[in-house]
Amino acid sequence: RRWGWSLAGELRQAAARDPGRTAVVDEHGGTLTYQELLDRSERLARSMRSGLGVRAGDRIGMLCRNHHGMIEAIVAAMLLGADAVLVNTGLSAAQLTTVAEEQGLRVLVHDAEFAERVLGLPADVFRIDERGRDELIAAAIPGEQLQPPERDGRTIVLTSGTTGAPKGARRPTPNGFGPLVSIIDRIPLHARDAVLIAAPIFHTWGYAALQVAFALRATIVLHRRFDPTATLTALAERPCDALFAVPVMLQRLMEAPPPDPRPPLKVVAVSGSALPGGLATAFMDRYGDVLHNLYGSTEVSWASIAGPADLRRAPDTAGRPPYGTRLRILDQAGAPVPDGQVGRIFVGNEMLFEGYTSGAGRERRDGLLDTGDLGRLDADGLLFVDGRADDMIVSGGENVFPSEVEDLIARLPQVREVAVIGVPDPEYGQRLAAFLALRPGETLDPEAVREYVRHYLARFSVPRDVVFVKYLPRNATGKVLGRELRRYYG
Ligand code: ATP
Repeated sequence: RRWGWSLAGELRQAAARDPGRTAVVDEHGGTLTYQELLDRSERLARSMRSGLGVRAGDRIGMLCRNHHGMIEAIVAAMLLGADAVLVNTGLSAAQLTTVAEEQGLRVLVHDAEFAERVLGLPADVFRIDERGRDELIAAAIPGEQLQPPERDGRTIVLTSGTTGAPKGARRPTPNGFGPLVSIIDRIPLHARDAVLIAAPIFHTWGYAALQVAFALRATIVLHRRFDPTATLTALAERPCDALFAVPVMLQRLMEAPPPDPRPPLKVVAVSGSALPGGLATAFMDRYGDVLHNLYGSTEVSWASIAGPADLRRAPDTAGRPPYGTRLRILDQAGAPVPDGQVGRIFVGNEMLFEGYTSGAGRERRDGLLDTGDLGRLDADGLLFVDGRADDMIVSGGENVFPSEVEDLIARLPQVREVAVIGVPDPEYGQRLAAFLALRPGETLDPEAVREYVRHYLARFSVPRDVVFVKYLPRNATGKVLGRELRRYYG
């Protein structure tokens, strides 16, 4: 057996080629070279094997923010052929218990800040916090060599559960350079770049960024939590070539006072939820034409990429499928729809997930996976994502995409953020409810909002309910939690 393309294989290669190169910089300036990161991960793996009896095929949960210890824990799992289950830090204590049982966790590596939330886990789940991890690393018996495990460890990403209970999605291990090429085909990333990964590593996008960073032998800058001012200061003090983020982080960066001088960013890549066109333009006006919008999901990885030129031309676009990706818009019968018409987005690439741990799958047609999203292609092949099919609102028999109404309302200068949902209505089946958080000191009249929407969109797209809130409830990757908003209606 050989070390493959898992994170462990990639780290071994990086350490062999560039041992003294800085691999990770944590927010307080602690740095580890590629060799040190590998050594610590190997020691952790050996201690978990000898001390805790972890074996190939076991499952190790990670409930961590972004820091070097999380990377060490994932690599240690891979070194032993165990599966790393990446747990969303937004899960409640009850959800964590369910996840631990459903996933059959042997060990949970967690940050001390979550100590209380993991108290109720089944007693046979061995818990390791930062201190415990350092003790295990220190206790490793030196000298013993790790051999490639009899099976490759997998990464299981736990979805945030915005559309139901959290699901474990088995991510594929790359089988070569394909995924890396598909990204550098479109985004100017280079070997040995410095990259700040702000997107949570427990989410597919942050994890993908980590895989790309390892493959490039990049220096990875990590902050435990995202703070816009701290991020801008860090970028001004230690320039990075690339920032990997989720769209809501861009919004927060735009709300923070722009530092002087502006950090010299070359690449900002966002994914995980829709990027509002107005935000894309405003961000590029301030920070230059550096923005890349990737559309994708835990199930399909990235399926299309919009570069700065695409976003300048069509700010709402999700771009085009990159090298190695097929993307089709199909109707209900599975036939391709003409350009400009909305249909279901199907994607094929070598990064499709391998199914949910529950055994459930997703529909495939002709080797392409159903994304569950609706969208359309324009005559130039640019993709526009309208949103999840499940989120589509049917009001009086007419279909309305929340994103269309949200993007419009978001352009009002008083509005900080907005979400639109469908709520049950005795007359129309569903009616639109818009939740608005205003900028400090601003006011708006609900009728003025309706009047404004009426001016641009069809009558059935006008929200009958306009609700003002302080902020929108979001999950850890910044996605608005529709179910929390629905609670407003009891
Ligand atoms: P859950 O499935 O419970 O919401 P999650 O938030 O972890 O969990 P992801 O797989 O990250 O799920 O979400 C992927 C979805 O996010 C896509 O199917 C799409 O609806 C939306 N999305 C992601 N990136 C973009 C983008 N660039 N433009 C538009 N929509 C996007």
